Amino acid sequence: MKQVTDYFGCLVFNDKVMKSKLSSDVYKKLKKTINDGKELDISVANSVAQAMKDWAIENGATHYTHWFQPMTGSTAEKHDSFISPEDDGSIIMEFKGKELIKGEPDASSFPSGGLRATCEARGYTAWDPTSYAFIKDKCLCIPTAFCSYGGEALDKKTPLLRSMQALNKEALRILKLFGQNSVTSVKTTVGPEQEYFLIDKEMYEKRKDLIYTGRTLFGAMAPKGQELDDHYFGSIKTRVQEFMNDLNEELWKLGILAKTEHNEVAPAQHELAPIFATTNIAADHNQITMEMMQRIAKKHDLVCLLHEKPFKGVNGSGKHNNWSMSTNTGINLLEPGDTPAENAQFLLFLVSVIKAVDEYQDLLRISVASASNDFRLGANEAPPAIISIFLGSELQAVIDSIETGKPLKTDGKTFLKIGADVLPPLPKDTTDRNRTSPFAFTGNKFEFRALGSSDSISCANIMLNTAVSESLRQFADRLEKAKDFSTELHELIKETIIKHKRIIFNGNGYDDSWVQEAKKRGLLNLKSTPEALQYYLHEKNVKLFTSHDIYSVNEINARYEIGQEHYSKIVNIEALTCLDMLNKDYLPAISKYTKNLAETASLKKSLGVSDSYELEILNKISGELAKAYKVKLDLKLVLDGAKNISDCTELSMYYKNNVLPLMEEAREIIDSIELDVDSRDWPVPSYGDLLYSVK
Ligand code: ADP
Ligand code: MG
Repeated sequence: MKQVTDYFGCLVFNDKVMKSKLSSDVYKKLKKTINDGKELDISVANSVAQAMKDWAIENGATHYTHWFQPMTGSTAEKHDSFISPEDDGSIIMEFKGKELIKGEPDASSFPSGGLRATCEARGYTAWDPTSYAFIKDKCLCIPTAFCSYGGEALDKKTPLLRSMQALNKEALRILKLFGQNSVTSVKTTVGPEQEYFLIDKEMYEKRKDLIYTGRTLFGAMAPKGQELDDHYFGSIKTRVQEFMNDLNEELWKLGILAKTEHNEVAPAQHELAPIFATTNIAADHNQITMEMMQRIAKKHDLVCLLHEKPFKGVNGSGKHNNWSMSTNTGINLLEPGDTPAENAQFLLFLVSVIKAVDEYQDLLRISVASASNDFRLGANEAPPAIISIFLGSELQAVIDSIETGKPLKTDGKTFLKIGADVLPPLPKDTTDRNRTSPFAFTGNKFEFRALGSSDSISCANIMLNTAVSESLRQFADRLEKAKDFSTELHELIKETIIKHKRIIFNGNGYDDSWVQEAKKRGLLNLKSTPEALQYYLHEKNVKLFTSHDIYSVNEINARYEIGQEHYSKIVNIEALTCLDMLNKDYLPAISKYTKNLAETASLKKSLGVSDSYELEILNKISGELAKAYKVKLDLKLVLDGAKNISDCTELSMYYKNNVLPLMEEAREIIDSIELDVDSRDWPVPSYGDLLYSVK
């Protein structure tokens, strides 16, 4: 049998391959580019391109592509073959340095939010050499950033890289103050845990809602849901296990460190977690993972649903963004450490995150806002859309002691002064102690849990990195001027705790009383995407982005518009699908069923049977059917009304306030009828079929 160690990373142009394929001079220059972000000169690029092409062809590739993440959707690629014609009619396989460094996809159909005039359709893609090239489907994929000719970001990668640079700059200033002179770079690290559903392909293909929208727009709950909690960490079914084995193998070949897999809470729901990586690489890997999940599922006659809420009444799927900051010397900056000095540095980085999350709650909320994630956040059966931080009782006790100045005594030791005393031991809890918190400290990292399962992790990390950069910038400005560093440090940490402690909440985030409490504390509860997005344009946020060179004002406006437009488009597709299913599936099938009932009822009556079950059900269903028809007509009218609205904010609010409620009304009626109809006459697979048919 093939050993994992033999094939791990075999489809990646990684450091080991670079070392063996490049001359030592070229290798050194490339490494310098990768480590210091220096520009690659064309002669080096030519040598790298040549080696990359030879390696790719040896490994079966015929094409190459600049692989990038546009502002909506997942990833984009346009394949070019290596083929180049010769005068004698033969071909050679060619790939030049300039093709490696820069691409010019005709990008006029990618959303740009008005950044790129249609007459200037071309943007360009530029290689991100810090993320390795890889082979997928006989195609050499070169991870790239995508910009307009004016240099404006048209993708999610460019601002992510900018935010990492901002954090690097400010964190280095802080570390210098702590005397960490050997540190030359700080990178953020992420391990995203990915949830998903797997359902049978045959069932999927019979549901237009799943095909067009990724979620069920109708469907009564099955008699058994998740109440027994018997799926969570339960034994994995054979077909699912075979899928997971295949998926792991493909991901490992691509150098993706898929590590754990288990069943999730809901039936048919699963999770995959990788080992963490530098943020831009983690983002690329997560995109590939999502794509591979969907592809490999098909091979097993399964469909992988990445929608945040495919089934009403069943837990939705999210993505847990485990995040930290790490130095080139291998120090995790959110690791408490053992000495008073390490503890002091840890506490400063810790409060920088607390401040960032409090001041930019709105941006974190925006970073996870989408039409699909709205069904998970802030909806009736989901956690509220309030951003708060969980610290756990041990760390909370430390924070309290700093705030009040009262010594903290544990195990005979006393903690009072930052930088002088040792912190009490903080548990590194790997079992999530508080699963209801959207932003939890888990021992040496934070876990941001509000991300949707289909989200790119880029947006959340752009916001997080930028907001923390701002905290660190303010801290550095103050500490650099301090007369006495340790006194100023203590004061700064204490003040930050006092000012931002309202964001800390260690209780049950799903409890109704938290919503009231959060309101009292002045925390935001932005229930929907159209509302949340409007905070993008607030002055403090524009200032944040522009001052750290993450987004220009134009870029922010573009992202805002694209976000609102995308929301409206998604709801519009859902509403059209809802109408289509009512017209062609539900109403005709139900009508046919009432015909059967009517015939039997009338036959019984003619035979002198006075009471009939059929007549009673017939009356009930006919009444509901008439209601469904009425809602259908209303929905059509309301949808037509959307055509007259041109402002993107007004339009998305219209969809949220007028279209979604009618779809929900239609659903309630149809779902109630479903409970009374013979399953053989129901036009689509039921929740039971969808959730329990994979053996
Ligand atoms: P568990 O699965 O028991 O929660 P961990 O808490 O160790 O295990 O890890 C959860 C996720 O967090 C994994 O993807 C892991 O790689 C990631 N992770 C661990 N340490 C860090 C870190 N310093 N930075 C970012 N992610 C991390
Ligand atoms: Mg987790």
